[in-house]
Amino acid sequence: MSEIKRIISLYKNKEQLPSEVIKKYLEKARKNEFNSFISFNEKVLEQAEELDKKVKEGKIKGRLFGIPVSIKDNILIKGLKCTCASKILENYIAPYDATVIERLKKEGALITGKTNMDEFAMGSSNEYSAFGPASNPFDKERVPGGSSGGSAISVSADEAPLSLGSDTGGSIRLPASFCGVYGLKPTYGAVSRYGLVAFASSLDQIGPFAKYIEDVEILFDVIKGKDEKDKTSAYYPEREIKPSYLLKIGVLKDSFSDKVEDEIKTSLEEFIKLLEKEKIAEFKEFEMESFEYAIAVYYIVACAEASSNLARYDGVLYGFKLKGNNLWDMYEKTRTEGFGEEVKRRIMLGAFVLKSGYYEEYYVKAQKVRTKILKEFLKNLEEFDLLLMPVSPTLPFKKGEKLKDPISMYLSDIFTVSINLAGLPAIAFPFKLSKQGLPVGFQFVSKFFTEKLFFEVLKKIEKIIHG
Ligand code: GLN
Repeated sequence: MSEIKRIISLYKNKEQLPSEVIKKYLEKARKNEFNSFISFNEKVLEQAEELDKKVKEGKIKGRLFGIPVSIKDNILIKGLKCTCASKILENYIAPYDATVIERLKKEGALITGKTNMDEFAMGSSNEYSAFGPASNPFDKERVPGGSSGGSAISVSADEAPLSLGSDTGGSIRLPASFCGVYGLKPTYGAVSRYGLVAFASSLDQIGPFAKYIEDVEILFDVIKGKDEKDKTSAYYPEREIKPSYLLKIGVLKDSFSDKVEDEIKTSLEEFIKLLEKEKIAEFKEFEMESFEYAIAVYYIVACAEASSNLARYDGVLYGFKLKGNNLWDMYEKTRTEGFGEEVKRRIMLGAFVLKSGYYEEYYVKAQKVRTKILKEFLKNLEEFDLLLMPVSPTLPFKKGEKLKDPISMYLSDIFTVSINLAGLPAIAFPFKLSKQGLPVGFQFVSKFFTEKLFFEVLKKIEKIIHG
């Protein structure tokens, strides 16, 4: 199944026009029942009407022709606000398109609006937004996951068939999992970061959300590949990837630790049994010695990079500015008022671990462990085609539950951050609903530039689960 193909065939058969499709999605999105949008693209209807003409002339061209897409509010779209859910960028208008946006537009996509997120993508619950928290569509009392919460909600609640988010330590996969949709964190370098507001540049990646795996594949195909404007982007190797008849999948031992909620563990066992029964894969547990250090390493590296990346918001170049008695006073007032609590905590943590005297102790050590994490992953990926683990140790939690305790919030990322540190691709996929009716999903990890394997395997699994 594919929403993209379904909508394009509506156009081809002249059953519906892009402006009609856009209206339907926008009507839902504009109600903003879950606070998933920060702003809307006021020109989208005009843009859709241009495409209407093409439909009437029978000139349908582009892999995303007339497909609505929502975009996380840390990706630049020329002429639209890009707030990063921060007061400091409240009125900032993007002067150019991110490369992913250029690529979407070239394929005929229609951008509907900018989605809610944790401020500067720092968080796991979407509660750290200057525009208010967003809600989980399955239970409004609960969080949608973060930081790309709005993107995940928009797809889950049919406010948009597709969305783009960013993942630095789990921000695509966690909300995807909490909202019951797919979320792909591509291989580092597979997608250009040009025009993505930087949080931690060595970890950040843009990636797609969708309800069906085929749509994740199409959207990823559109955005991936070398971009001269991002020197860390790579030529995506085009090679045939055919899953072997019986896949070998490694299950991370920590998936069954007492830190993981029981229902997640029993669902994981159920998932494994299902794939064994269907003769899709055989499973074996694997261990990662460095796993327990991943959170500490991630929060050192990510905060260090963030403290440097966020130095540019000082009231001079961008948006928000408060008057001061002198230049330093202006900087201080602007940054104190403009940034939220969590962002300030990260900047301070980052400045601390980079300070002379502490640098070797924290930052350098963290980089060494980062290399060890990568090596351990690569070793396991020699033995297995895919690795399997939960996305989060818990089901979507209640709003407010972790706000007073940042460490417990950081622990939500226990299964996601190590993959960003290694730069490997990972995909969160929905499996079932829990007894309380909340989504339960897991994630696969694979070798560099082998996203295709996810798509092939998950197409089979999607068929088995949903028919
Ligand atoms: N939750 C993690 C953090 O707060 C990951 C964020 C992200 O991937 N952008 O840093």
